[in-house]
Amino acid sequence: MNLTIDNTKVTVEQGATILEAARSAGIYIPALCSHPNLPPSRQVKPFEAVYRGKEEVKNDNSSSEYEGCQLCLVKIEGKDDLPTACTTEVGEGMVVQTNTPEIQQKRRGNLNTILAEHPNVCLACDRKEDCDPFRGGIRKASIITGCEFCPNNFKCELQEVSAYIGVDESLPPYEYKGTPSLKSDSFFERNYNLCIACTRCVRACQEVRVNNTVGYVFQDGNATIGSKAPSLEESGCQFCGACVDVCPTGALTEWNNKWDGVADTRVLSTCPYCGVGCQLELLVKKDRIIGVSPKGDGTVNQGQACVKGRFGIAEFVHHTDRLTVPLIRKNGNFEEASWDEALDLVAEKMGTYNANEMAVITSAKCTNEENYVIQKFARAVLGTNNLDHCARL
Ligand code: SF4
Ligand code: SF4
Ligand code: SF4
Ligand code: SF4
Repeated sequence: MNLTIDNTKVTVEQGATILEAARSAGIYIPALCSHPNLPPSRQVKPFEAVYRGKEEVKNDNSSSEYEGCQLCLVKIEGKDDLPTACTTEVGEGMVVQTNTPEIQQKRRGNLNTILAEHPNVCLACDRKEDCDPFRGGIRKASIITGCEFCPNNFKCELQEVSAYIGVDESLPPYEYKGTPSLKSDSFFERNYNLCIACTRCVRACQEVRVNNTVGYVFQDGNATIGSKAPSLEESGCQFCGACVDVCPTGALTEWNNKWDGVADTRVLSTCPYCGVGCQLELLVKKDRIIGVSPKGDGTVNQGQACVKGRFGIAEFVHHTDRLTVPLIRKNGNFEEASWDEALDLVAEKMGTYNANEMAVITSAKCTNEENYVIQKFARAVLGTNNLDHCARL
């Protein structure tokens, strides 16, 4: 399909949405509920909802009426309305505008609705840059009343979208929801005071991970986002972190790097924990890994990881107990050695056995490539087929 978006010619497969077409051409359209790794927000099923409190809200069907964030509005030549780019399929010869005064004004109105229940003072403040020199002193607040107090400051999609659309300075002060922050779960904190109910976490958990840990919780006539049981552990969470990765606000925040700020650099690496070989971007700050972001497009893991790769790397890489040099036992004690010394010793001792006296056990905690190399070493160098794998233990 050939179309024109903001005077740029774009070609995509039939069935692609305007939002996908724009993204493929590097054209930015603000969107808070849509995410490249997730199905569209309107496809959220009525959910295995959790009902707490009054029984009469059980017939509430608001999850199936979810209309999305309504920020990705676009203008299609020849049409009067402003459809959402995330749900409109491209057509041959279509001419699309993504940023006209009319579109931006409509978006601003919809953003105001979102920000009416979100800490908005910093977003609307025209002097927010002046806060930067004082940030170190005011950030670690127990209640987050604005971006300068928020661990998500400078890495927040809601900030990015608000800056693009422009926040109405006359926006009334929001009302603090007063939802207790959930601090007892492992790996990440849930602060639903910052939640904008975009349902990204719900779709990540239910439709990508097929785990149904989080979804709508109906309580006393209100629909909010939450977990089946009060804690994630009791709700059967895998702690894969998929919900954290797609959350566009600071509502879901990793414990390990909560106040570490923005990484200096990202380094693409392969997860060292198993043979799947998930591609992960290591978030590095001041020569330390502060977090991990699973790589999306074109990778074996498609933006996903398991708990080990997602939350278990920084700790083990920097753990004080980690062996970083070979140790050789001398007189009953381990002593540090160089790799040459260690390898020479192993080669010398192995040289005293014949091939059938040796066996090699490989590990499930290695990459496929490492396991391939070790079997090659066993068969081609040692000359033995005595080879096994710890996954069978
Ligand atoms: S979640 Fe984003 S927009 Fe909201 S207070 Fe935090 S940094 Fe600001
Ligand atoms: S960590 Fe994974 S399983 Fe747990 S709530 Fe998030 S997406 Fe669902
Ligand atoms: S917790 Fe985050 S991802 Fe989930 S609905 Fe709220 S803002 Fe969206
Ligand atoms: S341990 Fe988990 S994250 Fe790492 S490669 Fe295996 S499945 Fe992927």
